[in-house]
Amino acid sequence: MATDVDLTNPIFHSEEQATAHMEADRWPDGVTCPFCGSVNVRRMGGKTQAGMFLCNDCRDKFTVRTGTVFERSHIPLHKWLLATHIMAASKKSVSALQLQRMLGLGSYRSAWFMCHRIREAMKPAKIGPLGGAGRTVESDETVIGGKAKNRAYKKEPKKQTVVTLVERDGKSHSFHVANIKAKTLRETITRVVDRQSHLMTDEFPAYWGIGEKHFEGRHSTVNHSANEYARLGGFVHINTAESRFGLMKRAVFGAHHSVSEAHLPRYLIEWDFKWNTRKMKDGERAALALKGAEGKRLTYRPAH
Ligand SMILES: [Zn+2]
Repeated sequence: MATDVDLTNPIFHSEEQATAHMEADRWPDGVTCPFCGSVNVRRMGGKTQAGMFLCNDCRDKFTVRTGTVFERSHIPLHKWLLATHIMAASKKSVSALQLQRMLGLGSYRSAWFMCHRIREAMKPAKIGPLGGAGRTVESDETVIGGKAKNRAYKKEPKKQTVVTLVERDGKSHSFHVANIKAKTLRETITRVVDRQSHLMTDEFPAYWGIGEKHFEGRHSTVNHSANEYARLGGFVHINTAESRFGLMKRAVFGAHHSVSEAHLPRYLIEWDFKWNTRKMKDGERAALALKGAEGKRLTYRPAH
C-alpha cells in the first residue's frame, strides 16, 4: 500500500499513545465534557479508570471515545486508529477479512463492525450544494449487483440503483435510489444541485423535464450509443460520473463480494469520501476521517 502514513507510529501500537493522540486531536483547547460542554472536568486515576474523566458539573463520566463511532467497543483504541488510517489511505476498499488479518482481530464480525463504523465517520457533515452559476454538474445512474459469484449455489443478489451527482472538478454525492423514475431523479437532483448550474446527463427521458423546469434549460445530454463524447469541444460529456462508477464498481466487487441493500449507502459514503478527498495526501485524508469519527455517534444497529 503506497501511503505517507507511518504504520510504525506508536499511536497504532500503544493504547496509551493512541488515547493521548485522540485526546489532543479531539480537545485541542482542553478536555470538554461531551454531555454538557463543561471544561470543569478532572482526569480519574487508577488502572481501572485509565482514560476516564469526571465532569464536575454534570457528574457524568466519559472517555475520549464517548460520543464517537468508537464508543462501546471492546477493540483497543490503537486498533481503531490503525483501521481508520488503513481504510482512509487505501485507494480501493479494504474488506473486513483483510482488516481482520491486518489487525489480528479475533472475529470477522468485529472487523465487519469496524469497517462500517469507519465508513460512518467518513460521512460528510452536509450534502451539497453542488455546482452554481457557471458550474457543471453531471448526473448518471448505474445498477449495482445482480451478479452472484457462483450462480449454481447462490441466489442472484438484488439489483440496486445508484445515482451519482458530480460537480466537474469538484465533489460528488451518490445515492441509493428506489428507481429512476422522473420523480425520484428530480427529488434527488433538486435537493443537492444548485439550480444555477448547468446539468449534464445522458439522454434518459426522465431528465428532460428536470433540465427544462429546474435548470431553465441549462441542460446538455450525451448520447451513450453514439460516439459523441467530445461534442462541443469536450464540454458535453459525463465522463467524470462514468469514470467514478467504474472505480466504484471495481472496488465494490473487487473487495466485497456482495453488498446488501441495507449497507449500500455506507459503501457509497466511503466512495464519495475518497473521491472528494482525492487531492489530499493519505495522512490528511486519514486525519479527516478521524475528525469525522469524533463528531458522530453510531445510532444504527447493524444487522448482518
Ligand atoms: Zn458534563
